[in-house]
Amino acid sequence: MKNMTAKALSLAICVCLAAGAVFCALTGTAPKEVAAERTIETVEEEIKACEALISRLNSELAVLEEQIAQTDGETASTLEQAQLLAAQVAVLETQIELNESLLISCDMKRATAQAELLLVQDEYDYYNELFSELMRFIYENGATNEFELLFSSESLTDYLSRRDNFNSVMESVNDLRLSMEQSLLRLTELNDEYEQVSAQYASHLQTLENDKAALSDSLAELDALTAELGIQSEALAGAYAELSKNITEAKEKLSALRSEREELYQQQQKPEKPQEPSGGTGDYGFMWPLAGDVSYRHSSPFGWRTDPFTGKPAYHEGIDLACAKGSQILSAGAGVVTKAADYGGYGNCVIVYHGQDEQGRAITTLYGHASALKCVEGQPVKAGTLIALVGSTGRSTGNHLHFSVLLDGKYVNPDYYLPDGYYTKTYYEG
Ligand SMILES: [Zn+2]
Repeated sequence: MKNMTAKALSLAICVCLAAGAVFCALTGTAPKEVAAERTIETVEEEIKACEALISRLNSELAVLEEQIAQTDGETASTLEQAQLLAAQVAVLETQIELNESLLISCDMKRATAQAELLLVQDEYDYYNELFSELMRFIYENGATNEFELLFSSESLTDYLSRRDNFNSVMESVNDLRLSMEQSLLRLTELNDEYEQVSAQYASHLQTLENDKAALSDSLAELDALTAELGIQSEALAGAYAELSKNITEAKEKLSALRSEREELYQQQQKPEKPQEPSGGTGDYGFMWPLAGDVSYRHSSPFGWRTDPFTGKPAYHEGIDLACAKGSQILSAGAGVVTKAADYGGYGNCVIVYHGQDEQGRAITTLYGHASALKCVEGQPVKAGTLIALVGSTGRSTGNHLHFSVLLDGKYVNPDYYLPDGYYTKTYYEG
């Protein structure tokens, strides 16, 4: 597992560096002399490349995050194991200490028993010798001694007394000898017992020392692993920071590219703009396409925006006015209804033809997402005629009127055709 992590890590760092190189290549593709030739299409291509790069960097970041989480988990579990082992080592150390003191006390007892044994042995030897001498004396002198004892005695009473005395001494010595024998036996047993217990303690101590040595080895391994994980963690954090920096830079670049695209689009749109609209209405005299009492919110402007369905940049071909379902939609100008039907993504849709401008281009307006249609195809309308009710049919995320203006079927910014500043000013500046 360790090797795998290390491999994945080095791979991640390589990928990260490669991404950085790609990123540099991408950001470095705008030398000044080319800038003048930049078109929406070239900018659009760069935007796509930049988005792809960000997407890839983000996946790499996700992989790194996973690796970091894994390393963190491993570190935590290793530290936990190390703590557990350290606690076990501490317990063993206490046991060893106890065992050592038990062993010492046992050895001392054994030494005492041995010393006592020697003393008693000496005493025993002495009494044994004494007893043997007495026995020998009796044997060697035998009956003679009895007669001698008898004749040397002053009286029978004296003889009996002397004989009793002799027997008494003989008995005492023998008693002492037997008692010594017992003491010797007891001390020998004690010595053996202490020796046995001492051997047990010594063996147990050896086991404990072995266990401690094994645990200490494991602990050292865990410490080494923790250190290794620390290095890995640091490398991953470095790679993560580098990748995050690249993503931030790519996002900044993307934002700049989008602004550039919008600027280019606005530049392209400018020639389309009629003479400065004045007096509160656009050049085509369009009126606001919602009834006067309808309160609305500018929910999306004309031009590039993030598509609410895909989350990706998409060109919005009109303006969105969010308002209550059933609000009245009015024809922005006089003309003829050319469509009053379901129209794909626009849902229930009305299109009104308003004739041609001075350049001979057909002017039409489009009203999308209606909940109900209030006109029929071919019907002539005036500016302000009720043509539909606001809804959320088709590709829509809420009740709103989508309003588009087309010149020869090409979508143009409705801001320039509606009463002056009605939309743009309030949306962008208000
Ligand atoms: Zn719309």
